[in-house]
Amino acid sequence: MTNDSRSGNRPDWRTRLIQPDVRAPGGFLSLVPAVQRGSTVVFERLADAQDDWRSGRYTYGLYGTPTVLELGARIADLEGARHSFVVPGGQAAIVLAYLAFCTAGSHVLVPESAYGPNKELGPGLLRGLGIEVQAYPPSIGGDIADLIRPKTSLIWCESPGSITMEVQDVPAIAAAAHEHGVPVALDNTYAAGVLFDAFAAGVDVSVQALTKYVGGHSDLLLGTVSVRDQQIHDRVGPIFRLLGLAVSPDDCALALRGLETLAVRLDALQRSTLAIAGWLKQQQAVARVLHPAFADCPGHDIWARQFTGSSSVFSIVFADDWNAARVARFVDALRLFRIGYSWGGTTSLVMAYPAAGSNAREYGARLVRLNVGLEATDDLIGDLQQALALCRD
Ligand SMILES: *Cc1c(COP(=O)(O)O)cnc(C)c1O
Repeated sequence: MTNDSRSGNRPDWRTRLIQPDVRAPGGFLSLVPAVQRGSTVVFERLADAQDDWRSGRYTYGLYGTPTVLELGARIADLEGARHSFVVPGGQAAIVLAYLAFCTAGSHVLVPESAYGPNKELGPGLLRGLGIEVQAYPPSIGGDIADLIRPKTSLIWCESPGSITMEVQDVPAIAAAAHEHGVPVALDNTYAAGVLFDAFAAGVDVSVQALTKYVGGHSDLLLGTVSVRDQQIHDRVGPIFRLLGLAVSPDDCALALRGLETLAVRLDALQRSTLAIAGWLKQQQAVARVLHPAFADCPGHDIWARQFTGSSSVFSIVFADDWNAARVARFVDALRLFRIGYSWGGTTSLVMAYPAAGSNAREYGARLVRLNVGLEATDDLIGDLQQALALCRD
């Protein structure tokens, strides 16, 4: 084929498909951050193409496009961090923290109440790498010092814990850890990074599943690893790059949109959840309400001192005469509370946690976790009421 004769010196139309010489006008001042996609980043001159992660310059899409880095900057700003690494999910954030601080021979302490897949890393992947993970009781406080060994490389906290909701004395644990030079990582997902000030509590690494409250609509998976000290940043940064933790700018744009309504959603969710938990507390069938704002919840007094609010996820423990079959009947009878994992979205969810393999030891098969969504509170109470009525005996 010949060149397009009408174009004079212009490149062929096939070339212009790839490298056009026309562009839309600039100066579009939208209220919405642009979704910037891209793997390759081009440089003006070869000398600009040095790949030094500390330079803060764009070198390759894997390390973040402006949309991804804007989300990281916004989370860092909210958490009072120096930097937030954006990763594909909360679990990826947890793995990044392990691999940044542990090598063969390392010992790690994890609360028994931690997010299940965090605990599964110990006997699974990490043991194979020569890293020993030891579970500790979540209420340990400053006594964590007794469990610290010369090879202890990381201490995890999660407050409140997943499913069983124990609130931990994070400042006491961090103080003891730092006396031994051990860094502390906190899974701060419950607090959405805003209801508990991780860095003021002495935490070195704050991890969040943005999947939950920041996303807020059950339509994305993202996580962050936030760091405040330069030394910790220098430790996490190179490992982050090596793990290839790419995220989609489209997902980040959804998370940025989620941030705009985070405050009003958290506020509404807190209010509705407190009303529903309070109603459940009065039901004969319910023996305990494991919600940090209720005295039944282990560590309630710590929550009252250290948190600025509560969110939408909590558990109930049915009375002694309830067994797994009756609990299943209750769960199946719910209509508005949908059966599903995760939380923090607009839809109310329910999940039962039979004791086997979970941290719900003492509660047997009687523990049910609820996530309150943005449906009308009275309708949700009505749903619980009709399901309880169907399970009277
Ligand atoms: C959901 C969750 C995670 C994992 O997040 P994903 O984005 O689903 O990988 C980690 N920690 C806690 C406390 C969670 O609830």
